[in-house]
Amino acid sequence: MESALTARDRVGVQDFVLLENFTSEAAFIENLRKRFKENLIYTYIGSVLVSVNPYKELEIYSKQNMERYRGVSFYEVSPHLYAIADNSYRSLRTERKDQCILISGESGAGKTEATKKILQYYAVTCPASQQVETVKDRLLQSNPVLEAFGNAKTLRNDNSSRFGKYMDVQFDYRGAPVGGHILNYLLEKSRVVHQNHGERNFHIFYQLLEGGEEDLLRRLGLEKNPQQYHYLGMYSLKKTLKNHKISSIVASVLHLGNVQFAADEQGSAQVTTENQIKYLARLLAVEGSVLRDALIHKKIIAKGEELISPLNLEQAAYARDALAKAIYGRTFSWLVNKVNKSLAYEEGKFPGWRSTTVLGLLDIYGFEVFQHNSFEQFCINYCNEKLQQLFIELTLKSEQEEYESEGIAWEPVQYFNNKIICDLVEEKFKGIISILDEECLRPGDATDTTFLEKLEETVKNHPHFLTHKLADQKTRKSLGREEFRLLHYAGEVTYSVAGFLDKNNDLLFRNLKETMCNSENPIINQCFDRTELTDKKRPETAATQFKNSLSKLMEILMSKEPSYIRCIKPNDAKQSDRFDEVLIRHQVKYLGLMENLRVRRAGFAYRRKYEVFLQRYKSLCPETWPTWDGRPHDGVAVLVKHLGYKQEEYKMGRTKIFIRFPKTLFATEDALEV
Ligand code: ATP
Ligand code: MG
Repeated sequence: MESALTARDRVGVQDFVLLENFTSEAAFIENLRKRFKENLIYTYIGSVLVSVNPYKELEIYSKQNMERYRGVSFYEVSPHLYAIADNSYRSLRTERKDQCILISGESGAGKTEATKKILQYYAVTCPASQQVETVKDRLLQSNPVLEAFGNAKTLRNDNSSRFGKYMDVQFDYRGAPVGGHILNYLLEKSRVVHQNHGERNFHIFYQLLEGGEEDLLRRLGLEKNPQQYHYLGMYSLKKTLKNHKISSIVASVLHLGNVQFAADEQGSAQVTTENQIKYLARLLAVEGSVLRDALIHKKIIAKGEELISPLNLEQAAYARDALAKAIYGRTFSWLVNKVNKSLAYEEGKFPGWRSTTVLGLLDIYGFEVFQHNSFEQFCINYCNEKLQQLFIELTLKSEQEEYESEGIAWEPVQYFNNKIICDLVEEKFKGIISILDEECLRPGDATDTTFLEKLEETVKNHPHFLTHKLADQKTRKSLGREEFRLLHYAGEVTYSVAGFLDKNNDLLFRNLKETMCNSENPIINQCFDRTELTDKKRPETAATQFKNSLSKLMEILMSKEPSYIRCIKPNDAKQSDRFDEVLIRHQVKYLGLMENLRVRRAGFAYRRKYEVFLQRYKSLCPETWPTWDGRPHDGVAVLVKHLGYKQEEYKMGRTKIFIRFPKTLFATEDALEV
């Protein structure tokens, strides 16, 4: 077949595996830069795709371009998301093996855009029918709804996903999409009540105010001006609000934000904004007086007796914000559930369709290192440790399997196994999460500081853990007394323990919960289940919930054949054509790309099916040109002998030739061009 690659496509190397100096980070970055300058934003490391956000519209996502990638093998066309998408899809069809595409990278690197583009690729290229069209539409439409509720403008990204998402697409035996399912992870609920300077609340609030009809807004007791709402700050966004059903709930969160308190003589909080209570009662369909009382009192049940005590100002504000976060967070989960119902594939719905295969897309937060790192970063970075662990296990496994199936002796690869860090975080009894939970459950005087002390006692000699007290003189200066440092696979991160207990407890006072359980708003009613009130067991803490959902995710991913897309953000200014080397070097490190490359290069840099290899290079040998009549294996043997390949340079497997060094291949490529 004629190669579809042009000279421009060949700027630098389109697979890092072919870099002569593959251990040099400088060479790696130089290759990225060269290609980025030519708008070649995609480059491979073997079958891993590295993508650099261009921050401008490139003409590489057209329908015609999608067609170019259909059924074509990796090396015949320039690197692209579509090649990954198509390759996974083909394995799914031909081997009937479930697939997953794992997309990682820091905020603003292009993960969500990549996910959307892959879905579009399938929507365009997969077989269609009436029913299938509906599924395709729903899959594509689920995105704007979830983005409205789960995304926000941040300093890093104008459309930042504030939750992790795993989406399964189910395909029938003809390869048509017939259903889907979404799992969501750790929504950043704190954003509902507080945003950092220059950032915004979730899009939906602005969409409601900007796009809501006068009538609707009047009914909700809202004014068009976002500045009226303390949870919002000052911004505007023009988009029509599509979903009227839950607008009451969204509005109620805004009203909650405007509930204010004053202290009476005893210092107990009293509500001073009766109007808000009136609206809240209507929107949440609860008794106004009950809600008012619940906002300023705390109810504890001890030995079967109810104890009610008033809250002070600070506690009342805390209770109010906790309620706002709970309502929003649960409504988000409700929404995901709703989307899932609409995407659910009913076995037997379309007669004659046999069981399905599944392709999963993971769009989840990348490694985060800020000036100030808290509980959220701790969870997110733990998640990345788990994904790295999965990557190591699966890559080494698949390498090993390929060597085995090709009948080539396995050569062990040296790599850093980050299991030790995963254990440090998640181990029973002595892992960080366990110790945190223990402090959260301990009645009495547990604080963030006692948590830190417990940590110090329990994990003091761990090579990946450090605190002020445990550090030597020199390192000590860089650590505050309220901090602990983890040496992650991607580098050091220092976490401040302030707020860990609160965030992990994620507590909603009992009387507020009760009030919500009695709501006659059907959605709120589904979100707050009565069993929570009678359940003797304490609800799981935030970290434990996250740990458990990650462990389920790992199981899901382990059972599938993975592909990887590593996204890189070129600069912090959201600008096109700017390649900030320092920033990129960090990401290359945090994404583990050099390690990636090392593992991939440990054995053979290049491997190709005999047919493909022969086709490409047969013109270099009189015995194979213009056609070779025998087995492709034998043809390749004749060909490489003619080319003078040395014994240590290559190996012949069952179906593929394995070439150890790129230079061997380059020489052959050069010979072609002469
Ligand atoms: P977060 O973790 O904050 O959700 P993300 O990795 O999902 O970040 P995206 O929202 O996908 O980042 O991308 C950020 C912005 O970068 C997009 O809104 C878009 O403007 C631009 N962008 C990303 N990928 C591309 C692309 N392939 N082509 C053009 N622009 C892109
Ligand atoms: Mg995103």
